Amino acid sequence: MKKIGLVIAILLLVVGFFHYDLDRLLTLDGLKSGLVQFEVWRAEAPLLVGSAFLLLYVVVTALSLPGAVIMTLAAGTLFGLFWGTVIVSFASSIGATLAFLVSRYLLRDWVQAKFGSRLKAFNEGVEKDGAFYLFTLRLVPVFPFFLINLLMGLTALRAFTFYWVSQVGMLVGTVVYVNAGTQLGQLESLSGILSPSLLFSFVLLGVFPLVAKKLLDVIKARRVYAGFTKPKSFDRNLIVIGGGAGGLVSAYIAAAVKSKVTLIEAHKMGGDCLNYGCIPSKAIIKSAKIAQQMRHAKNYGLENVEPTFSFKKVMARVHDVISKVEPHDSVERYTELGVDVVQGYAKIIDPWTVEIQLNDGGTQRLTARSIILATGARPFVPPLPGLDDVGYYTSDTLWGEFAKFDEPPKRLVVLGGGPIGSELAQSFARLGSNVTQVERSDRIMVREDEEVSALVQESMIADGVNILTSHNALRCEKEGDIKRLIVEKDGVESVIEFDALLCAVGRQARLEGYGLENLGVETNRTIVTNDYLETLFPNIFAVGDVAGPYQFTHVAAHQAWFAAVNALFGTFKKFRADYRVIPWATFVDPEVARVGLSEQDAKEQGIEYEMVRYGLDDLDRAIAESATKGFVKVLTVPGKDKILGVTIVGEHSGELLAEFVLAMKHGLGLNKILGTIHTYPTWAESNKYAAGEWKRAHTPERILEWIEKYHTWRRG
Ligand SMILES: Cc1cc2nc3c(=O)[nH]c(=O)nc-3n(C[C@H](O)[C@H](O)[C@H](O)COP(=O)(O)OP(=O)(O)OC[C@H]3O[C@@H](n4cnc5c(N)ncnc54)[C@H](O)[C@@H]3O)c2cc1C
Repeated sequence: MKKIGLVIAILLLVVGFFHYDLDRLLTLDGLKSGLVQFEVWRAEAPLLVGSAFLLLYVVVTALSLPGAVIMTLAAGTLFGLFWGTVIVSFASSIGATLAFLVSRYLLRDWVQAKFGSRLKAFNEGVEKDGAFYLFTLRLVPVFPFFLINLLMGLTALRAFTFYWVSQVGMLVGTVVYVNAGTQLGQLESLSGILSPSLLFSFVLLGVFPLVAKKLLDVIKARRVYAGFTKPKSFDRNLIVIGGGAGGLVSAYIAAAVKSKVTLIEAHKMGGDCLNYGCIPSKAIIKSAKIAQQMRHAKNYGLENVEPTFSFKKVMARVHDVISKVEPHDSVERYTELGVDVVQGYAKIIDPWTVEIQLNDGGTQRLTARSIILATGARPFVPPLPGLDDVGYYTSDTLWGEFAKFDEPPKRLVVLGGGPIGSELAQSFARLGSNVTQVERSDRIMVREDEEVSALVQESMIADGVNILTSHNALRCEKEGDIKRLIVEKDGVESVIEFDALLCAVGRQARLEGYGLENLGVETNRTIVTNDYLETLFPNIFAVGDVAGPYQFTHVAAHQAWFAAVNALFGTFKKFRADYRVIPWATFVDPEVARVGLSEQDAKEQGIEYEMVRYGLDDLDRAIAESATKGFVKVLTVPGKDKILGVTIVGEHSGELLAEFVLAMKHGLGLNKILGTIHTYPTWAESNKYAAGEWKRAHTPERILEWIEKYHTWRRG
């Protein structure tokens, strides 16, 4: 209501301005002809006229009306160079700030809500360097004054910063125009005020702060190297520390472009994903799924059977799978690709030197122009009293230790309701463990929409997982062979007895022990990097779990490209890591896959969206396979087919997502998916049907009514 009132007031003032022909007064000719009268008024009451002039100037600029240039000239004519400059300098800055505030009040929320996600990088840029940009815009008088006010109002720049930067930035231009006003008689046209050479000087002045800022950045970057002696030559172009997904891909790229690269891995090539993460977990998920399908064989017209199996063999298969994937990440393969692989523990000595404690004894020192840190993350173990006494497993120890068991643990507690905890809780329940999953939040998989969590939770409960949401783990206790976990909900404690406890409450970046502390590389929960994945030292980069913000193998590999290219060719061109389209999947049953915004995200970020949903219970292939649980949910820009995000729940959802990932990456809308032939009967058809749902929701009803009339008429 208040906003509408303000808009009406502004409109009335603008209409009045043009209605009373004030715009004609504020032209060069208008000014010249009215000058004698203005001079008389000014001579009679200089203070009053000066104040009235200042006020009028504020109003004209605040309303973004044309005429500020003429008024600046008039100020020179009427009040001389000094007072003219003072009046115009304050009036223009105050007026500009009012226009800035009006634009912010009326439009900013709307603009940010509509384009917030796309403006994120711009907003961050303004937050960081906004004052510099504004200063440049103000110094160069070719940028329209009123437009700068209105556009800056839409950004996150502080009003006071806007005011003072404007005042300082516009001062030189103000003096030039006020001075021209003192010689109004000789002035033939407005363009005469700014000669090309004067304009060029302004441009130089305007560019100066940006150049100065860049110089400052360079000096700052150099300062971090103070106290270190840069080697005159280097043993390598690049050293990569860590042989997981991030490190392997970095080294691969470096070797592919013929640089001399050393990859250092302290433990197992392939890192977490191959040895403790993606691969073993997906292997056990498959065995568990088969067991579950046997139990529910009736769904397929067969007889239900309780699977009999040797747990040792199930775990042996997991290790067999790892060993079959191992050659992809092996020392041999990478050596063949041209990477110098060193097995040992690396420590950074200075920004160019790495010392390696070789696994087979001895040390080696190497220098390189650039270093990539791909040292990964480790499971976070919560500081629960008594945890060490009862003993616990993590994804690091689980695969090795469980492989020694004849049976799966009878009673397994899984701490954590995230993707890893949920995948493992469901798998071990399906393999016969009595699983209790403890989650602090009110639902599992909190990053996904509520209906996704609910569907997964329902399925896991059906598999026998006892899910305790809104439960805090308090402590562990041991009495003889009996192990207990004490949990609390709403102030009431309860006891869970268990045989094995698995911590899956998150993973923390590896930040200690290899030289970051000594060097002063900035860290918080991860290593702090800029958009180019550079750490505080521009020649040291970080990728993967140790850098965040996502902890996925494919993101580590994606970052590796940027880090390797920036490390090797950054002198010529640097690339910003691009996180616009990041997909992921959680391999619970039903599988959950997502790219872009969920509904929950969109609401939290205040982004407008439309949503369509296609249920798999309608899909022929899903019906044929008796696997109709799930849906494809697509969020789009209101009124458009542009995809903002997709969540798929159901069989093969991780695979189905790829089509949407491609579409989002390359700006293809739902119409394009709808217009693509999908093989019948496939799961992928669900993507097309989801696009069809969108089309139906946007049927041009009016046009169809006319078409119906046309057909009626044709029938005679
Ligand atoms: C159970 C589980 C399931 C997962 N499932 C998936 C999934 O399905 N999909 C997915 O995308 N992601 C999954 N992840 C996550 C995925 O494993 C990680 O995101 C990925 O491994 C990160 O790769 P990275 O290169 O950053 O680190 P890592 O793979 O952890 O590699 C880091 C390497 O650096 C080495 N290192 C550390 N410090 C030094 C040093 N000073 N000197 C020498 N070497 C050093 C370590 O030994 C390690 O091998 C899963 C993780 C777990 C635990």
